[in-house]
Amino acid sequence: MQEFRLIEKIFKPLTNQNKAAQGLADDAARIALKKDEELVISKDIFVENVHFLFPDGGFKIAAKLLRANLSDLAASGAKPRYYMLGFSKNDRTDEKFLKEFVAGLKSVQDEFGLDLIGGDTIFSEQLFFSITIFGTIKKGKALCRNHAQNDDLIFVSGTIGDAFLGLTSLQKKISTDKTAQALQSQHFLPTPRIKLSQALLAKNLSKCAIDVSDGLLADLNHISTESKLDAEIYLEEIPFSQPARDFLDKNPEIKKLDLLSGGDDYELIFTAKNKDREKIFSLGKKLKLNLSCIGKMKKPAHKNPAISLFDKENKKIKITKFGYEH
Ligand code: ADP
Ligand code: MG
Repeated sequence: MQEFRLIEKIFKPLTNQNKAAQGLADDAARIALKKDEELVISKDIFVENVHFLFPDGGFKIAAKLLRANLSDLAASGAKPRYYMLGFSKNDRTDEKFLKEFVAGLKSVQDEFGLDLIGGDTIFSEQLFFSITIFGTIKKGKALCRNHAQNDDLIFVSGTIGDAFLGLTSLQKKISTDKTAQALQSQHFLPTPRIKLSQALLAKNLSKCAIDVSDGLLADLNHISTESKLDAEIYLEEIPFSQPARDFLDKNPEIKKLDLLSGGDDYELIFTAKNKDREKIFSLGKKLKLNLSCIGKMKKPAHKNPAISLFDKENKKIKITKFGYEH
């Protein structure tokens, strides 16, 4: 399909006539801001055979890309507003693929309330797709990795390791059983925790968050390093789903510890004051979202801040892998 037709017919409807998009007919988008607002901007790139496989289909590829990008906004507490799309095309991105790709984007836009405002399109044999996402937040209010404080509790949303096991089950070509399917749906369609982070911010319950994209340990490590504090966490408190437990029972070569460095969870790690513990659990109930307290932040014992992981006998578990390395 010609680039002009692609933009006009396929991408333009995704703007929902948002003024910022200028009808995808000008050189650049223009975002109007209120005085007390800040733009929060993040970018993700998905490359064929690294982040997705072509046979996954356009819907899953596009939906996961936008969902993963939204997760970065969730980590900063911003409200999703706009995104720009970097699109590669070749003879495989035919009408069917495009239709699915757009449907994938639209489903996520409808769920989270944001519009396409521009992008760029090129030809490439190896496909890659990129999104730059824009959210807004009240000036100075963003949740940051370096805002954890001594004695803060560490919370995590949802469950950890499902997406990693979903991918593992795909690699092992287990696709028919229910357990594997449940895990695979977490791999393909993660849930960015936008609602949670907006609520934490509105209720002033947290100042520090990160989303789990590379692995629970790797991402908690970022909080620890940036906030210059140790993190102590307890394996017993880390939430695993029933499908994940069932999968581990059937595949004993995979350990619980592997799930902590698996990545792609797109859950939120955030820290909060001990006095707000109950408020956080009731927020979780209200949002119908499992929130677990997995440990706490402490003054660093050594020069470099570190994570310690303890088993149920309070013995320290040696961490050999933190997360996915790019
Ligand atoms: P230029 O050559 O100046 O980069 P383009 O022809 O690439 O301009 O883009 C024309 C318009 O179409 C711009 O508003 C641009 O944002 C939009 N556009 C191009 N590709 C995409 C895309 N993949 N998704 C959304 N908008 C796009
Ligand atoms: Mg261009």
